[in-house]
Amino acid sequence: MINAKNILKEFKSSFGARYNAYESSIVSDNKSWFFLAKDGSKKYLFVIGSSKPFELSELLEEFEGKTIGTIKIDGSDFIVGKADLSFKNLKLLQKIFSHLKPGFCGLKPSFGTGDRLGIVTPAHISSFSSREIFPYLCQQSARELNKTGRSWQDVISDSLWGVFEAGYKNPFGADADHVKEIEDLDVAIKNGFTMFTIDPSDFILTGADSQDKDKISKRYDSIPEKKEIEKFYLGKKITINKKVLEFDLDSLKFVTASYFDAIKHVVKCYKFIEQNKKDNFDFEVSMDEVDSAISPLAHLFIAGEIQRNEVNFHNMALRYPGMWEKAIDYIGDIGQFSHELKMHAGIAKKFGSYKLSLHSGSEKFSVYQIFSEESDGLFHIKTSGTSWLESLRTIAVKNPDLFRNIYDYAVKSYEEEKKSYHISTELSSIPDVGKFREDKFDNLLDLKECRQMLHVTFGAILTATKNGNHIFSDSIYKTLFANEPLHYRYITKNIDRHLDLLDI
Ligand SMILES: [Zn+2]
Repeated sequence: MINAKNILKEFKSSFGARYNAYESSIVSDNKSWFFLAKDGSKKYLFVIGSSKPFELSELLEEFEGKTIGTIKIDGSDFIVGKADLSFKNLKLLQKIFSHLKPGFCGLKPSFGTGDRLGIVTPAHISSFSSREIFPYLCQQSARELNKTGRSWQDVISDSLWGVFEAGYKNPFGADADHVKEIEDLDVAIKNGFTMFTIDPSDFILTGADSQDKDKISKRYDSIPEKKEIEKFYLGKKITINKKVLEFDLDSLKFVTASYFDAIKHVVKCYKFIEQNKKDNFDFEVSMDEVDSAISPLAHLFIAGEIQRNEVNFHNMALRYPGMWEKAIDYIGDIGQFSHELKMHAGIAKKFGSYKLSLHSGSEKFSVYQIFSEESDGLFHIKTSGTSWLESLRTIAVKNPDLFRNIYDYAVKSYEEEKKSYHISTELSSIPDVGKFREDKFDNLLDLKECRQMLHVTFGAILTATKNGNHIFSDSIYKTLFANEPLHYRYITKNIDRHLDLLDI
């Protein structure tokens, strides 16, 4: 019988010495069969079809693939074709299988995973496949692209080949994260992203607190729409959790002066996407990378103004109280966080049209339950660097020499690389790898200081070159490829730890 099982069985008996198939990847359009397989160093797309009509050879030509032989099933010959995992081939595959296209999420609870190396999507999928949560399997920020030298197209292509490898057929999204420039939006739209996270932090009035009356008044007085804003907000009372939120002129001046330009930028970005993207899209406003926590009153103003400008946004990320440092748990007063979050969640529910988003969500185990409960399922969470650290754990276990060299290089790059992050680890507190036994290197990945240091230096490590050659990148990929099952297990375990804490 001609079915997936027999196709794979015959492929294995003829080509098994050279190629190892990912059995879960096999799909068919009733004419041909498609699946992923790897040799000792690379993964490929395999296409198998009947040799009778010319269809398959035409198809292979389109896929830029070549015939590598035939297999026999029930007395008939089937051609076996092999093609590269290129973006072009991916687009062709998407035309046949619509489940390979990222889509729209809306207000469902959702969770984003970042993949800095572009190889761990199947491991992320293992965590999501049995849960009621919408995953963003492609998610990268413009900053991370700069640091790694990858493009929007690389991110989407790598993730989607991962979706294909895993045989995943449920809906998922692709998030162009922390975008600041319209040019980036343009490229992200063209490459098929479905969610756009706008970071307008460059437009926020910085260095002014509510006491800087002169600075605030100067900015406020220059805003032509100020009278309209006063008319809309002054005297308005909104009760959230039995607490009355009300603007007086001073507080209105402060939030308007602080956020007016940022809101304008968000509106501009939204209009651009609306004009250029044909399908439905998710839109997030990220106010998390700002100097201080966003107050409930400021949240009310920002959400209100964005809505008044007819921006249909689905997520709002805020800077919450406490410290949200990368790669470690929340630092701060959980009681205070919970109290503020209740107010923010109350505001979001009052609007009823968007979810609260939590960024830097890697390892924030102590706040997950509160966040999921208070937001009543109206939440989005982003994690990113956590999978990179699990990749390094695999290297620590399987290739300690490489790990030692990476670690030493990270220590040297740390001071420079930490500048673009809010993290507290001092160089002097990072342990010397030479003092650790080789078979205990993975323990370093559990120390707060090492986690932060290795988290923020990923770009320096991946792009380091000597005499025109990568110092680490090729060896990293090689080690992870050779130890893929263990690598995937570490990644899945880590994402599971996060998802297990959510009430979904
Ligand atoms: Zn963020």
